Amino acid sequence: MTQEIYDLCIVGGGINGAGIARDAAGRGLKVLLVEQGDFAGCTSSSSSKMIHGGLRYLEFYDFGLVRKSLAEREVLMEIAPQIVTPMEFCIPHQNTIRPAWMVRLGLFIYDHLWPRKKLNASSWINLESHKYGMGLKKALGRGFTYSDCWVDDARLVILNILDAADHGADIRNYTRCTSLTAKGDYWDVSLQDIMSGKEQQVTAKTVVNATGPYAFDFLDHTGHVLNDTPHLRLVQGTHIAVPRVYEGDHAYMLQLPDKRVVFVFPYGKYNLCGTTETEFKGDPVEAMATASERKYLCDALNSHFEKQTKPEEIVWEYSGVRPLFEDSETDVRKLSRDYRLYEDRTNGPLLISVFGGKLTTYRTLSEQVMDLLKKEFPALKRSWTATQALPECPVNLQKPPEQDDLRYFIQQEMARSADDILWRRTKWGIFLDPSDINRIKEQTPELIKEIISHDTAA
Ligand SMILES: Cc1cc2nc3c(=O)[nH]c(=O)nc-3n(C[C@H](O)[C@H](O)[C@H](O)COP(=O)(O)OP(=O)(O)OC[C@H]3O[C@@H](n4cnc5c(N)ncnc54)[C@H](O)[C@@H]3O)c2cc1C
Repeated sequence: MTQEIYDLCIVGGGINGAGIARDAAGRGLKVLLVEQGDFAGCTSSSSSKMIHGGLRYLEFYDFGLVRKSLAEREVLMEIAPQIVTPMEFCIPHQNTIRPAWMVRLGLFIYDHLWPRKKLNASSWINLESHKYGMGLKKALGRGFTYSDCWVDDARLVILNILDAADHGADIRNYTRCTSLTAKGDYWDVSLQDIMSGKEQQVTAKTVVNATGPYAFDFLDHTGHVLNDTPHLRLVQGTHIAVPRVYEGDHAYMLQLPDKRVVFVFPYGKYNLCGTTETEFKGDPVEAMATASERKYLCDALNSHFEKQTKPEEIVWEYSGVRPLFEDSETDVRKLSRDYRLYEDRTNGPLLISVFGGKLTTYRTLSEQVMDLLKKEFPALKRSWTATQALPECPVNLQKPPEQDDLRYFIQQEMARSADDILWRRTKWGIFLDPSDINRIKEQTPELIKEIISHDTAA
């Protein structure tokens, strides 16, 4: 058995693991990233897909997080314009929920916390005459607009993974880290190939636990929980896709009587609506929408739009589990969406764990991880990811694929099943006709067999 030595082993191939791998590989470290399922297979493909400051966090005075996220919104628009696109949001005004002055003040602060280069400033609109009023109930007389960005979350992960690999990182999906043992100045890392069941040992000088909602459990299973190890609060959020309730490329932020907000996005011929916030127990990858979440989201739509939607009309749904850093707050709405990095050197070699975080802040999080790694790797190169573009995808994702497109995803983007292609490399699973989806499901396993046996022979 060969024993490879890595500078850094990252456990977890969601947005945070992928961002850290890209940054570290570009700074000259020998990096290994392992993901037990597919990249973005957990929380990072189940988000609301916004690159945003988080307007509603202002209500909880989380100015630091909003400012940091607004700054990142500008950076991500520059380095990934192919997937991070501006989107205008309309907030129908509900005086009984929040007074107009409060919304106006929040939007003013949102506009001014960080300079905007491309996005419009917020404004006040009359919904009776403005095009954003079309489709809304007539009683909603006025509203506000503001801008944020929208992203294909799973592709953001894949682009970071591809660029990390391009910078020399060893990247493996369907590979689980099963144990982590300190031996002198190194970590002995046990890996299991999920497809073949084969075990492998590797050695790493440092390890980052970027397992998202599994962060505490991972430390627990590998025997690294200490008295001051942070805890996570797991909160399920569900989205539903329904036949369009309005036309247009803008989104809505709906204010609900329980003081929560729900977003409605344009999604091809559908609208995507979410999210709920339900305390979660269990395996995060198995999170599923409940009947009460479906009803809650349909009620949110029906109380604002003329066109009424029944739960039976839902064409697609997904649920993700937010890993929120636990503090003394009992109301999950108020728990911060910011992240904490937890360093452990008690065994000798460094183990860093990521607790919490947003899609939007993955790049700054990665830079902070690099700052912690500088102590072990003083020759680490300077930060670089704020100005270097993420790669483009050569496949046209808007049309049904040719066989060569499927080959591309298997050979270049490490897809190992039809679902990896239909739901994470693309969203063909919802947008293509059933006949095309069936063709992909039939062709992909054969192509994978052919490509893998060819690679093994070579
Ligand atoms: C409903 C919802 C809406 C959201 N909306 C937004 C939004 O609009 N904008 C925004 O900025 N943020 C949003 N977020 C937050 C954002 O999605 C998450 O913070 C982010 O995706 C977390 O990424 P991660 O890499 O930490 O975790 P994950 O994406 O969960 O990745 C962790 C990975 O670790 C893997 N793993 C676990 N154990 C092991 C092991 N032993 N070996 C190998 N791999 C392992 C898992 O399989 C998983 O893929 C939302 C979250 C939710 C739930």
